Amino acid sequence: MPPPGVLGAILTDEPYERCLHSYGRSFRDAVRGSFGQYPNPPDLVAKPASEEDVAAILDWCASTGQACIAFGGGSSVVGGVEPDISDKWKGVVSLDCTGLAGVLEIDRRSLAARVAAGTFGPALERELGREGLTFRHFPQSFEFSTVGGWIATRSGGHFATRYTHVDDLVESIRMITPAGLYESRRLPGSGAGPSPDRLVLGSEGTLGVVTQAWLRVRERPLFRAKATVRFANFDRAVEAVRTVSQSGLEPANCRLLDAAEAAPSGAGDGEHAVLLLGFESARVRVEPLMSLALECLKDCGGEIVEQTASPAPGAAATATAPTSGAAADSWRSSFMSAPYLRDALVLTGAVCETFETAITWDRFSELHAAVLEAAAGAFRDATSGKGSISCRFTHVYPDGPAPYFTVVAPGGAGAASDPSALLGPWSTIKQACSEAVLAAGGTITHHHAVGRDHREYYGRQSPGLFQAALAAAKRELDPSGMCNPGVLLPER
Ligand SMILES: Cc1cc2nc3c(=O)[nH]c(=O)nc-3n(C[C@H](O)[C@H](O)[C@H](O)COP(=O)(O)OP(=O)(O)OC[C@H]3O[C@@H](n4cnc5c(N)ncnc54)[C@H](O)[C@@H]3O)c2cc1C
Repeated sequence: MPPPGVLGAILTDEPYERCLHSYGRSFRDAVRGSFGQYPNPPDLVAKPASEEDVAAILDWCASTGQACIAFGGGSSVVGGVEPDISDKWKGVVSLDCTGLAGVLEIDRRSLAARVAAGTFGPALERELGREGLTFRHFPQSFEFSTVGGWIATRSGGHFATRYTHVDDLVESIRMITPAGLYESRRLPGSGAGPSPDRLVLGSEGTLGVVTQAWLRVRERPLFRAKATVRFANFDRAVEAVRTVSQSGLEPANCRLLDAAEAAPSGAGDGEHAVLLLGFESARVRVEPLMSLALECLKDCGGEIVEQTASPAPGAAATATAPTSGAAADSWRSSFMSAPYLRDALVLTGAVCETFETAITWDRFSELHAAVLEAAAGAFRDATSGKGSISCRFTHVYPDGPAPYFTVVAPGGAGAASDPSALLGPWSTIKQACSEAVLAAGGTITHHHAVGRDHREYYGRQSPGLFQAALAAAKRELDPSGMCNPGVLLPER
């Protein structure tokens, strides 16, 4: 369907762009992309440079019966950006938001910044850093994801306690919907009814296109204390972390790795669970907080392996890289390179999946055991019993942890040349583990989002009336249902 003249300049049907906007970055996406399979490319890719462009694209899609999928960094791991939609649509446009980029305004007095939605993590930190500020939101996909994507998916950063989801760091949001402009008021907090921001946070492109947001920023941390603590027994380590998470100390990092997770990264010896603990502040030394936390951990059977603080006592605080411990450094570097390693594993014929959830402390052990059992059963069914599963806590709340599981298993015979030899076992493992998580009372996702892949589970875990209310909200903002159809809710 040829676009009207004025839109021609921001739309392309170039094959490379259509391929690039076909997928996110899930294991399934990586496999299909590696084998050159692109069953659902968008017909066109739009590259708007302004909000007017975004509104014009939405109008054109609405008037021509086409669907529109907002695309940020394309790092979705849940089928959030794939144009896998029904035949009723006359076409589909992938709306790439990365032309709307940059820090537009800083309110130093309120410590807030107005940021365009297509800004990638590194650019955001670079621009804020010039003012001595930081957003301090570091998803593992930080390099490849955008502010708009974070808001649309309620991303989780790497503060391990307290501020975790981007939700708490967003002051107001501006979104263009098919029904018009949706903009919330800048407020530090509000008790006025259900929050307009909360409707947009996690909407995954189904209500409109987020174009800007005011974000809560902070001064860069200058004082840090870090420690690595190991435990001979995972259950005792879990109890130790629960105690710290309920102590009110609120460490910035409190990442527990089981022995299987710690060993390959070089942070552990394969026998011990390892806890990476960190405190930070822009204003005050944090060693006293660390001492209290370490006392608590020792009481729970923890053994301190290493401990550092920066700056050294008496030295001036600077914004340079902090001193860290060997185990923490080793784990961090493995964590940051994991996305690249995953894609390499695909090429070697390995199945590799990560999934995450959250559960209250009273039910964690049961959930953990159920997931391990489900994975073992899936390995028996799909990979001749071969495979490994490990667990870490990405976040801890006073009332429960957010466990993150990593599965690696060999693909079936012919995995080097046949994608089904990878996707068959992957699907068996993913389904078994997802069912186990839901049956044990967990959420299908703590921060990876819903997309198309988790939609059915999201429907099952949330109240039926809530789903109906969400569908009604979508009908109001997106009357034809053209915004990312099939994500969060079934297509109408
Ligand atoms: C290796 C790896 C590690 C990851 N680690 C984390 C992690 O630590 N924490 C975490 O939370 N997630 C993580 N993710 C998942 C992913 O990075 C997040 O969901 C991220 O927030 C997506 O941002 P994006 O800009 O790439 O959005 P995209 O992938 O482009 O889009 C994601 C969804 O948001 C919608 N969307 C994007 N931009 C907009 C917009 N401007 N307006 C409206 N809707 C929009 C899309 O339609 C889609 O539904 C990881 C992914 C990978 C591949």
